[in-house]
Amino acid sequence: MRFYYLKGYTYNELKNLIKNILTKDNSNLNENFFDYRVDQVFNWIYKKYEENIDNFSNLSKNFREFLKNSFKMNSLEIYDIKFSKYNDSIKFLFKTEDNEYIESVLMKHPDRYTVCLSTQVGCNVRCVFCASGINGVKRNLELSEIIDQFFLIQKFIYLKENKRVSNIVYMGMGEPLFNYENLIKSLEIFTHDKAFNISNRNITVSTSGVVDKIYSLADEKFKVKLAISLHSPFEHKRQKLIPLAKKYTIQQILKAVEYYFLKTKKRITIEYILLKGITDTPEDAKELVNLLKNYNFKVFINLIPYNSIGEVYLDSILLEQSDMESINRFYEYVKKYFEVNVRWSLGRDINAACGQLRRNILNTRVN
Ligand code: SF4
Repeated sequence: MRFYYLKGYTYNELKNLIKNILTKDNSNLNENFFDYRVDQVFNWIYKKYEENIDNFSNLSKNFREFLKNSFKMNSLEIYDIKFSKYNDSIKFLFKTEDNEYIESVLMKHPDRYTVCLSTQVGCNVRCVFCASGINGVKRNLELSEIIDQFFLIQKFIYLKENKRVSNIVYMGMGEPLFNYENLIKSLEIFTHDKAFNISNRNITVSTSGVVDKIYSLADEKFKVKLAISLHSPFEHKRQKLIPLAKKYTIQQILKAVEYYFLKTKKRITIEYILLKGITDTPEDAKELVNLLKNYNFKVFINLIPYNSIGEVYLDSILLEQSDMESINRFYEYVKKYFEVNVRWSLGRDINAACGQLRRNILNTRVN
């Protein structure tokens, strides 16, 4: 019987699975045997980025055969890679076994490399400014598919530049909190000292505001950073920008965020997209500040100038990037009250806005 992907299991899951299989034929094997074997397997995959089980040289031939007969290695293949001419990012388009496409981005900052991960095929939050949501959601990603995005990018950049990726953001395609179980298991693998050993300080989960899951995440052992896609302090406007936002009010979301801060003590990032004439006016800036002043958590505001995904309208207004004057005016006002930054998308020349590469493929694909 085949048990799918070796990277689709946490340390304890893999250990228990192997134990259950092998103790059927040999009840003399003890706990240390299994700890040791899983340590070795994790070491080959997550520390040495080895994909060929035949090269797991410190494992017995029998055990390697057992692994080969029981598991597959990769759940994704790299379908396309786009390099930004500014050398600030690399975008990866992956193909799944069921012929779906997902995207991930490696962002190169001078002091760190960050991978932006997808958690779903498509997205049903359907933000009007995002290419990922245009066709809705197809399915959640499997755990192995979340891990493989990171694994394949890490291996690629290790071979190319001898670099390790230190940071992860769950900001790619999909709403991470709608794939909660696999999100949590992926955090288990990313932070495990026998796997990638990424510090939870260097991991950010971004959500459009799935209130009950924000409470759940706050109670998990992973005290990762949280980013909230707010995009407008006005309820009616936010609901137009983020159709799924109708389910939760801004107040419900920010109350949950207060709880998250209480439990984690981690500064909360507020994501705010700057759309010309829609979210970038002085009134928007003032209301944003007034809103956030009412809540008890430490705030960092990311202002994100819109990266066009084509001709899209909201109430017959074309979505366009704010002009520099409006961006600066907004920034200067908010800066008086909160820590704030203008985050220009890296890789603007390679369709680095969420979901654009996949959308290009879907538009050209002949089924
Ligand atoms: S911005 Fe994020 S939440 Fe909104 S549609 Fe795109 S992937 Fe989904």
